[in-house]
Amino acid sequence: MSDIINLLPEAIANQIAAGEVIQRPASVVKELMENAIDAGATHINLIVKNYGKSLIQVIDNGKGMSETDARMCFERHATSKIKSAEDLFSIKTMGFRGEALASIASIAEVELKTRTEESEVANLIVIKTSEIIEQSYCQAEKGTSIAVKNLFFNVPARRKFLKTDSVELKYITEEFKHIALSYPDVRFKFIHNENEIYNLLAGSVKKRILGLFRKTYEQKLLRVEEETDVLKIIGLIGSPEIARKQKGEQYIFVNNRFVKSHYLNHAISGAYDTLIGDDQFPFFVLFLELDPSNIDINVHPTKQEIKFDDERLIYNYLKVSIKHALGRYSLSPKLDFENENGDIRMSNPNSPNNGPFSSTMASTTRSAPVMRQWQSLYNGMEDKGELQRELDQEDERSNIPKEEYTMPSAASGDLLVETLPLDSEEKEPYQIHNSYIIVQIKSGFFILDQYLAHQRILYEKYLLNLNDGEELIQKQLFPISLQIPKDRVEIFTELAKEMKNLGFDIQSFGGETFVVHGIPSGFNDNNLQDLVDRLIDQYSSNLDLDISKNENLARAMAQSAAIKKGKRLDVEEMRTLVDELFACENPYTSPIGKKCFVNYELSDLEKQFG
Ligand code: ADP
Ligand code: MG
Repeated sequence: MSDIINLLPEAIANQIAAGEVIQRPASVVKELMENAIDAGATHINLIVKNYGKSLIQVIDNGKGMSETDARMCFERHATSKIKSAEDLFSIKTMGFRGEALASIASIAEVELKTRTEESEVANLIVIKTSEIIEQSYCQAEKGTSIAVKNLFFNVPARRKFLKTDSVELKYITEEFKHIALSYPDVRFKFIHNENEIYNLLAGSVKKRILGLFRKTYEQKLLRVEEETDVLKIIGLIGSPEIARKQKGEQYIFVNNRFVKSHYLNHAISGAYDTLIGDDQFPFFVLFLELDPSNIDINVHPTKQEIKFDDERLIYNYLKVSIKHALGRYSLSPKLDFENENGDIRMSNPNSPNNGPFSSTMASTTRSAPVMRQWQSLYNGMEDKGELQRELDQEDERSNIPKEEYTMPSAASGDLLVETLPLDSEEKEPYQIHNSYIIVQIKSGFFILDQYLAHQRILYEKYLLNLNDGEELIQKQLFPISLQIPKDRVEIFTELAKEMKNLGFDIQSFGGETFVVHGIPSGFNDNNLQDLVDRLIDQYSSNLDLDISKNENLARAMAQSAAIKKGKRLDVEEMRTLVDELFACENPYTSPIGKKCFVNYELSDLEKQFG
């Protein structure tokens, strides 16, 4: 038999490597931004067009590359970051494999402009499918600009695997956030389709967090700072009241590299314990530092998974540090958790001690158990010695899950309010401003937001239908046609299929036209177009959240179908709304976590007049 083994041509070898390194536009963003950081840049701009499919460009003011390096950097295994095997054990840079640029250049068109401090002119290189197609000089600022165009143009299979545009943009944004969070002293800009998404000045981690997340977090961030010989933890965590129903806002960095770890997340959620609901996720941005020889960050090619030599120690230490921070916070004056104004935001919204119908307890007694929990967190943790002791105890106590670290499931039905302690006089509910409903109860009254309450009711109903495939009765219609904007046709086609389970029968009529043949009974068919427009908007913006398709659809449907503020309701409608709300599994908040009602105690009223 003749010899059959060949060496793969370089371009093909690179393409194969690209399969591992570059899975989606966000991977390019990560690699280019990491290179800019490695080059010592203090200003980094990310410019993206068409969700990364047409252009991903990173411009930095780092050290730039010489003429030869500008060519060399596209070769496989070309790196300036390690020279010998020993270097592998003391890596301080983000990259070191020398694979990224070679991979990218094999599956896209890349334009590189780069200039070093010493050089008067910049080098320009255009490369496509690993071949240099242009090389010349140009004018440019010191630093490097790399523009990646038409990613995956020669790998159709890869293109097919991409998710919807909004999901890809979400991945890109996440990569940007990871790097922006871990380098707060670098200035970053992110522009998508000419819109400036972020413009972040250099500053503290806290400033960076406020620049990337909600400004309202400002007063709600707690500092974490602990250090031992083995491990240092610094960062900020959200107070329990900004915990959210979606996981999104949780970031852990180990030696300044973003990592994903269910294990560590579990430790943190465990520290919040009953301060947040079982279905809530705390906000955190934490930086762990430890000797690199105690971790193996390379277990995953994209380097987000991590393995520690002593996992248990890290778990416990992290948990105790978070408890410590939460405990310190609990002692600060007047707390946001005091039940002033009869407001329900003080603690876990799912806590049985917390709604207007839960019991006849007065507001002061209601907050007591919460306060006690806070105090017990803090007790005996004043100094590092105590911390260590607490750690030891934690080690004995905790049964750290070994394999599955799933989050506890959503609030269970036990918290359901069985009977409404409505006032014996049975006053009728009363609507004000065609938006809020006032209901008198024994201990005072509560005010319900009709839009948010109805959202909750519909959301639970839809979710049940979607998850359990329970059939909804359908009402046949004289066909109504809908016009869907061109750029939404794709998403709506997907949605229409799912909406079948909710009792909608919607067919494509070609192009931008769809026809509705049936809707769920009890559903109002006037202004379907308006409802669908809103539905698509909601659904696409919810794509940025980490929620399942069913949950997204249920939420979006609830948001667009719920009765709006400004709608007048008769007494019967109001009663039904109140009854149905309190038959919900979680009557306290709307699907996106806003309060459905606010409770007022008589004693609060008395105080007002005191
Ligand atoms: P790695 O980062 O693993 O070394 P890359 O393929 O990402 O591999 O980059 C190859 C080399 O190109 C880097 O080692 C670096 O010397 C150079 N390089 C890449 N991007 C930049 C940049 N933005 N500024 C300066 N040098 C860069
Ligand atoms: Mg790199």
